[in-house]
Amino acid sequence: MKIQEKSKLSRFSDEDVNEIMDLYYNSDFTVTEVLELFNITGIRASELYRHFPPIISDSLQCRYCGLSLVCNRKSKTSRTWGRDIYHCPECGHTNETLILP
Ligand SMILES: [Zn+2]
Repeated sequence: MKIQEKSKLSRFSDEDVNEIMDLYYNSDFTVTEVLELFNITGIRASELYRHFPPIISDSLQCRYCGLSLVCNRKSKTSRTWGRDIYHCPECGHTNETLILP
């Protein structure tokens, strides 16, 4: 089952993407260096995190579609781990009353 939409990172294996995310969030490399390291082109440093696969909840499901809710990755500079808002990849329904723009 492939719920991830085709992104610029789709040519990478899951392992590579995990490594890219690890370097992005946990290393001292700049985003530009991570991009160069993996020879990633066509993605701006400030937008790399948007291409990461979303976090898939294993407990939350959409009450309409029955799909697992997902949560978008945050950029490493906006590490305000407040409340993660999960949403349905199909209908956009969220687990919050708040609707995302
Ligand atoms: Zn739904």
